[in-house]
Amino acid sequence: MKTLSVLGSTGSIGESTLDVVTRFPGRFRVAGLAAGRRRLDRLAEQVRATGARVVAVTGEGEAERLRAQVDPGVEVGWGTEGLVRVATAAGVDLVVSAIVGAAGLVPTYAALLEGRDVAVANKETLVVAGPLVMEAARRSGARLLPVDSEHSALFQVLEGRRPEEVRRLILTASGGPFRGKGRTSLGSVTAEEALAHPNWSMGPKITVDSATLMNKGLEVIEAHWLFGVEPKAIEVTVHPQSVVHSLVEFVDGSMLAQLGVADMRGPIAYALNYPERVPFEELRLDLWAQKGLTFEPPDAEAFPCLGLAYRSLEEAGTAPAVLSGANEIAVESFLGGRLTFLQIAQVVEAALDAHRAVPLESIQVALQADVWARDFVRAWVAEHGREDRS
Ligand code: NAD
Ligand code: MG
Repeated sequence: MKTLSVLGSTGSIGESTLDVVTRFPGRFRVAGLAAGRRRLDRLAEQVRATGARVVAVTGEGEAERLRAQVDPGVEVGWGTEGLVRVATAAGVDLVVSAIVGAAGLVPTYAALLEGRDVAVANKETLVVAGPLVMEAARRSGARLLPVDSEHSALFQVLEGRRPEEVRRLILTASGGPFRGKGRTSLGSVTAEEALAHPNWSMGPKITVDSATLMNKGLEVIEAHWLFGVEPKAIEVTVHPQSVVHSLVEFVDGSMLAQLGVADMRGPIAYALNYPERVPFEELRLDLWAQKGLTFEPPDAEAFPCLGLAYRSLEEAGTAPAVLSGANEIAVESFLGGRLTFLQIAQVVEAALDAHRAVPLESIQVALQADVWARDFVRAWVAEHGREDRS
C-alpha cells in the first residue's frame, strides 16, 4: 500500500487523482491533502472521505474554518509551512504535486529533499527551478514521475533507452481553441473563448496557457529538465486529435509514440502505480472511431509564447522563472479583463527583455526572479492594460 499526499486536491488533477485512488482499493492510502482558497467545503469533504490526517490551506482564516468541519485530530496548517508539512508528513511515500503555478515549488522541492517520490503535474516547479529540483531528486534518490500527459508519454517510451539512442523528443499540442486563427483575428478573442478547450477539461490557468501555446512552451522546458535533452532536440507538433500524447525519434530513424484517450486519469494512474501497469477498463482507446491523426507545425507568429519559452531556456538561469511568473500574472490579468489575449505574449516578452538572467544558485534566487516578474507585469498592466473589471 502506498501512502500519498495530494497537493492541490480540489483542482482538476487533484480530483482526478482522488478518483484514481478510489478505483484501486487497497493500493493507496491518503495521509495528506492541501488546497487553495476556493472550494474549502470540498476540501473538508475530501478530508472526511479519505481520512487524511495532515491538511493545509492558504491562510489562517481558512485553516480555522476548515478545523470546524473536520475531525479534531486532523492537523490543519496553512501557508507555505503548512504545504511543506503535508508534503513531508510521516509515512508519505508519494506526493502528488498538483497545485497550479509557482506556489507548488517549495513543497515539491521539500518532498524531494526528504526522498519522497513525487508525481509531478505542476509544470511550473520544473520551469522555475528545473536544475535544482532535478539535483534534489538525484541526491535523495527520490523518483520524479511525470503526470503531464506528454511527459508521461515520453517517460513510457524512453524507459530502458540510453540517451545516445535519442535524436528528438516531439511534444504534441492540441493547438487549443484558436488553432488555425491568424494573428489579426486573435486581437479580439475573449476569456470565455480561451477557456473553451476542444479536448481537455482542465483548470483555468493551464486552459489559457493551452490557447496561447505557453503551455507547450512550459512543457518544452519541463521535458528538457526531466529527460536531459537539449532544447534544439525538442520539437512541437500540433496534433488536434490529442490521441498521440508525444513521440520519440531514435537515431536509427524509428519513431515510437504513446497513444491513449484524452483523460488525465491515465497518466495519473501510471505515475501512482509505477512501475506496475494495472487494468483501467474505462480508458480504452477506440481506434476505429478515429477519423485520422494529423500533424502540423505550430504557427509561431500567431502564438509567440512558444518561442519565448525557447528563448528563456537559451538565456538560462533565472529567465524561465521570469517567463513563468510573468505569464501567471498576465493570464490572471487576461481572465480579469485587464489584458487582451495578444498582450499576454507582449508583456511576457517585455519582462524577459527587462530581466538580466543570473545563475540559479538557490531556490530563493528562483523565487525572487518569479516575484520580480510578477511585480513587473503588475506595473505593466497598470500602465498599458484596461481598467480593473474583475
Ligand atoms: P486547478 O486550477 O484545477 O487546480 C489547482 C489546485 O491548486 C486547486 O486545488 C487549488 O485550490 C490549489 N491551489 C492554488 N493555489 C494554491 C496555493 N497557493 N496553495 C495551495 N493550493 C493552491 O489546476 P489543474 O488544472 O488541476 O492544474 C494543476 C497543475 O497541473 C498545473 O500546474 C497544471 O499546469 C498541471 N497540469 C494540469 C493538467 C490538467 O489536465 N488539468 C494537465 C497537465 C498538467
Ligand atoms: Mg500537457
